[in-house]
Amino acid sequence: MKPHNLFNSLQTFDAGAGRTGMFCSLPALEAAGVGPVSRLPVSIRIVLESVLRNCDGQKVTERDVRTLANWNARSPAPEEIPFVVARIILQDFTGVPLLVDLAAMRSAVARLGKNPKLIEPLVPVDLVVDHSNQTDFAGTPEAFGLNMELEFKRNRERYQFLKWGQQAFETFKVVPPGIGIIHQVNLEYLAKVVLCAPSTINHQPSTIYYPDTLVGTDSHTTMINGLGIVAWGVGGIEAEAGMLGQPVYFLTPEVVGVHMTGALREGVTATDAALHVTQMLRRAKVVGKFVEYYGPGAAGLPLADRATIANMAPEYGATMGFFPVDQETIAYMRATGRSEAQCAAIEHYYRAQQMFGIPRKGDVTYSVDLELNLADIQPSVAGPKRPQDRIELPKLKKEFVSAFSKPVSENGFGKKAEDFNAVQADLALPAGKTRIGHGSVLIASITSCTNTSNPSVMLAAGLLAKKAVERGLRVPAAVKTSLAPGSRVVSDYLAKTGLQPYLDQLGFHLVGYGCATCIGNSGPLAAPVEDAVVRHDLVCASVLSGNRNFEARVHPNIKANFLMSPPLVVAFALAGRMDIDMSTEPLGADRDGRPVFLRDLWPTLAEVSGVMQNALEPATFRKLYTDFAAQNPKWNEIPSSVGHVYEWDPKSTYIQEPPFFVGFSMQPGTIADIRGARALGIFGDSVTTDHISPAGSIKKTSPAGQFLIAHGVAPEDFNSYGSRRGNDRVMVRGTFANVRIKNLMVPGVEGGVTKYYGGASFQLANASGDATAGKLEACPTLPIYDAAMKYQQEGVPLVVIAGAEYGTGSSRDWAAKGTRLLGVRAVIATSFERIHRSNLVGMGVLPLQFKEGASAQTLKLNGTETFSVLGLSDAIKPRQDVTLEIMRATGATERVPVTLRIDTPIEVDYYRHGGILPFVLRQLVAKA
Ligand code: SF4
Repeated sequence: MKPHNLFNSLQTFDAGAGRTGMFCSLPALEAAGVGPVSRLPVSIRIVLESVLRNCDGQKVTERDVRTLANWNARSPAPEEIPFVVARIILQDFTGVPLLVDLAAMRSAVARLGKNPKLIEPLVPVDLVVDHSNQTDFAGTPEAFGLNMELEFKRNRERYQFLKWGQQAFETFKVVPPGIGIIHQVNLEYLAKVVLCAPSTINHQPSTIYYPDTLVGTDSHTTMINGLGIVAWGVGGIEAEAGMLGQPVYFLTPEVVGVHMTGALREGVTATDAALHVTQMLRRAKVVGKFVEYYGPGAAGLPLADRATIANMAPEYGATMGFFPVDQETIAYMRATGRSEAQCAAIEHYYRAQQMFGIPRKGDVTYSVDLELNLADIQPSVAGPKRPQDRIELPKLKKEFVSAFSKPVSENGFGKKAEDFNAVQADLALPAGKTRIGHGSVLIASITSCTNTSNPSVMLAAGLLAKKAVERGLRVPAAVKTSLAPGSRVVSDYLAKTGLQPYLDQLGFHLVGYGCATCIGNSGPLAAPVEDAVVRHDLVCASVLSGNRNFEARVHPNIKANFLMSPPLVVAFALAGRMDIDMSTEPLGADRDGRPVFLRDLWPTLAEVSGVMQNALEPATFRKLYTDFAAQNPKWNEIPSSVGHVYEWDPKSTYIQEPPFFVGFSMQPGTIADIRGARALGIFGDSVTTDHISPAGSIKKTSPAGQFLIAHGVAPEDFNSYGSRRGNDRVMVRGTFANVRIKNLMVPGVEGGVTKYYGGASFQLANASGDATAGKLEACPTLPIYDAAMKYQQEGVPLVVIAGAEYGTGSSRDWAAKGTRLLGVRAVIATSFERIHRSNLVGMGVLPLQFKEGASAQTLKLNGTETFSVLGLSDAIKPRQDVTLEIMRATGATERVPVTLRIDTPIEVDYYRHGGILPFVLRQLVAKA
């Protein structure tokens, strides 16, 4: 690493443990008069350090340093910050396609006759395989082994490919399946808080220290903000650019300070705190902002609680939910087995930067200051459809019953109130006879990094299970119970404290170490249960310790989904229903028929901390996070191909070379007008990335399903779109294939279809006025993929037209890649979600924005038009106006201005090069 000594900021410091190092000193920057650095939020200072250290006059300039050092709390400069991160983390759904792109770049470089090793991540990359385990088996001691067996069978090709990547790239490491969830593994093992790298300064070998910062291809990367690390989730395309030395660009944010006072009361968990904060910050509208917690309440929170609150930043809409580094950070690092030298380096570094400790009121100037007394937080759940809809426990019964008959538009279920108790289905299941109806709990899962990384709530769940078993309570037979911790450390302490056997007795057997129910891999319900739900259209519930509960995320047939703490998950599993007021009604009866209430089972804080004393040992973390590949025989059994260039297998249905670099040349094209384009789809507001590129199951009749069948894959082996992201042929067929997407070109129809106005059925740009209504109606309705391919054969460019917030939801690179591969040249929307807009540019697709007041509706577009985008050339400027020419089927034309949503000069370059990857590839090859 070669830091620049801008403003004489490169200084020596005592790094602890007898070491001396160099660092880019922020106090020195302030002393040089560059800006009031010590008044900046700590999160902004950490970004500033990166800008200062990476200032090379090209990608990062002195102006960037000065602008950020003078960050204006009330009105941050409307400038993009070039942020070079220290490392990158990936989960397997998003990581596999990213590795496919790296492998494809190596193939392209080899074809150019250059050394493929030119393509190497420039920062360390860790991929954690956690999204692929499914809960096919649950409620038995064998569940874990059987689920693992299936996972390896289903994903063998992907895992083989990951093993190739691990040996081919020096800076790319894989945490194999069965170890844990990405964010918990990051917290317990990968994170360093402070990093160091060898450097040469004034011809002398030295070591430069700098803050651990990262981006991850998963929204909940923010969990690591709890450890004082600046980090957030990005799309795969941005992560790829970050890996290859490009800064991650983001708009200078406002920083919302949340001044915490008080402490959580008896009976209130960190999950309750996270749900409370989510609701509070949603109301405060923190979307796109940094949130920084400070004050005595924040200082008093255990680190695991900070991480739980930080985890849910995407749910409250913030870019981050940040807790500065303090003594508690060091204590956590020590408790999780990190070395004394590392702990010393963290403390010494942060003290040298004058950033050690949680700020007090008045220390820092925030854009907005909010107050939160932790003592005000109540035990709660959130649901039934959105994480921000928090309900205090005693009000749940009333709220659930009222949601049953509320209109769907008000987040209800649109049923008749009098039908609530009308249906009762009696079922005979292997576990016993049971009865279900509206309000029955059918899935109860202790799941998700949000909570399984927090020993206090996990131990509370175990203690509650113990008391329930001792009173003779049982979970009703229809409830599918599961325990999917985010690391093996959890199993270790649940075994050590003797609590796991009680969880087992209630059916909370281990099902896997991974995302499981949290990502929707909840597996099937028992057939009679599923049948009864579908037959009677029951409004049944899942209870989970996760962070998202959008409809159909947890299970396609479970309509109500409630987020809650692990002990409450156990309690609701025991009750078996949501229409219960646990403050007054019993969960069940004990062996003697006496009612057992939640208060009888709820463990006290003293009981939890009593078992915690002996639960966690640094040595356990060290043992479980050492050489985990060797501890995973199934992973070791998978053969791996070797070599720097991947040998693509044309028969693979999981991994294929994408066409992004086929025919690659060193010369970028020129930017030119788009003429005579057809609309592939016209969509309304809030089209999500999941509408554009679904992650879930693949329908047999869809183009992707038909493709897989034609390639010998049986429908039961389809796996999900998420797991097929290494194969562009499946993914392009899945683009816009979500069964719920509504293309306004085909009114009243749900699913990925469109009207095809090309070929012989309709003369393109029929200016003669021959496009009669009869002819238009005769045009066929086709799957979007089929129509796009026909247009491609005819050389007809495509556009997509959409409403507000186009591309909202989880960042998903395939939403942009698939759009590009369908032949879409521009997306014209009323507004865009931030990451998806940048991903479109990153893939060489033009985002264009209608002017205020204009939309597909005001322009009366129905898809029979042809479109031209005029005014495009190599001289385009960010956010300039260009012209959209609309030629109606009658031949009439209309011209409207639209805003080019290429937002920065670097994005003009990306677009000119056909996307970020060709841009980076040309730079790397040119340098070689
Ligand atoms: S457990 Fe849930 S929140 Fe955590 S990484 Fe997995 S899917 Fe995301």
